[in-house]
Amino acid sequence: MIANSQNGFDMDSEEFRKHAHQAVDWIADYLRDIREFPVTARVEPGDLIAQLPGSAPEHGEPMARIFEDFQKQIVPAVTHWNHPRFHGYFSVSASGPGIIGEMLMTAFNINGMLWKSCPAATELEQVTLDWLRQWVGLPEPVFGIIYDTASISTMHAIAAARERKDPSCRTAGASSDLVMYCSEHAHSSNEKGGISIGIGQHNVRKIGLDSEFRMRPDLLREAIEADLAAGRKPFCVVSAIGTTATTAADPTDAIADIAEQYGLWLHVDAAYAGPAALAEEFRPLFKGWERADSIVLNPHKWMATPIDISVFYTKHPDILKRAYSLIPDYLITAEDSKVVNYMDYGVQLGRRFRALKLWFVMRNFGRVHLANMVRAHCLWAREFAEWALADGRFEIGAPVPFSLVCVRMKEATDDQNRELMDRVNASGIAFLSPTSLKGKLYLRVAVGDVKTTREDIQTTWKAVQTEASAILPA
Ligand SMILES: *Cc1c(COP(=O)(O)O)cnc(C)c1O
Repeated sequence: MIANSQNGFDMDSEEFRKHAHQAVDWIADYLRDIREFPVTARVEPGDLIAQLPGSAPEHGEPMARIFEDFQKQIVPAVTHWNHPRFHGYFSVSASGPGIIGEMLMTAFNINGMLWKSCPAATELEQVTLDWLRQWVGLPEPVFGIIYDTASISTMHAIAAARERKDPSCRTAGASSDLVMYCSEHAHSSNEKGGISIGIGQHNVRKIGLDSEFRMRPDLLREAIEADLAAGRKPFCVVSAIGTTATTAADPTDAIADIAEQYGLWLHVDAAYAGPAALAEEFRPLFKGWERADSIVLNPHKWMATPIDISVFYTKHPDILKRAYSLIPDYLITAEDSKVVNYMDYGVQLGRRFRALKLWFVMRNFGRVHLANMVRAHCLWAREFAEWALADGRFEIGAPVPFSLVCVRMKEATDDQNRELMDRVNASGIAFLSPTSLKGKLYLRVAVGDVKTTREDIQTTWKAVQTEASAILPA
């Protein structure tokens, strides 16, 4: 390619139009025919590397050739997270409106570090996050910000919590007396957050669980008392609504009482389950989250918005800003006193226009539609559990408050259950991931893709039954 068009060194506009249309056609076919793909990539480690040249071309290649290799070499090595029977980890999905929003935000390629650097990015972020706050039933306006992932959101929660308890850490470095709390089933991001900002892994206390895998407030109180007696400084507690292993909801209201009594920052991790609050009947599981100092929920998990977009709410933007704001001269603007400059509220300077894809998703689907999706996913997860129990060979490891089932063959070893999972995954029909509950291996079946139908869940169930029969004849 040479610099001879009005686009400088870029592709010619008509070329772009032609190839972009082709790509969109490919995407539309992919989404329509996605059930024809095996969910997981059928490749061995190194297979793709072996097919690709060791160095990049000196001179550009035609798009047609690149596209051909994309289909021949790249696609077979893709695990299809956007497949309606991807039930591993937590299933996520890029919906039609979400993909369109993502394409348009890429075309602008703005950097939303300051209001001035792109007013639309800042103001749309403020507006969509306030819409979302209303949708999930949080009563008071709060400050919202988009980070890339829940892990980063939670790290910022812990940093703000530390800033409130011991502001000297910003200048003097972390104090080794600070202690934070989460449950034994809390996501690893809590511990990683503690590691990242220098709290130290040993100062992240894992609180024991009740019989349904929820944090026990009595044990939390005991741990705090023991730390206080030893002269340490408890500063933060994380309540998970929708844990990763079983989607249990910690008793956030009771934890909020304790946080209040001892002056701890309460962070609620609802990364996966947050969107369930779009449906009123799930709100009881969220009781107390309105009392939190901060909350994280991920539209990129269960709200049909493409990865990545994690929403963070806090009642104390001033403290978050105190923890992170550092403004070099060249970033001071005349509007600073009147606007939000999102760069002041976190580690990163540059930021993508993620609110645009959320805006497309929220407007095109509306709350009622998305709430109905959440309801259907939870219903199908409960149905799956009923089918498994009715079969007689299976047991369920935990209650199903949201859209995840943990299932295992009763009269079988962990190895046999792992074999069951591997066989289902190798079939290409569905993808499941493991978890360990009370010392036994369970298969997690997470429902959460916007394209999933009840028939998909039946298909997954049949695959589980079929493979179980191969291991343990009925
Ligand atoms: C998925 C998940 C996370 C981590 O999310 P990322 O956005 O991938 O960092 C944290 N907490 C819970 C409860 C989760 O389900």
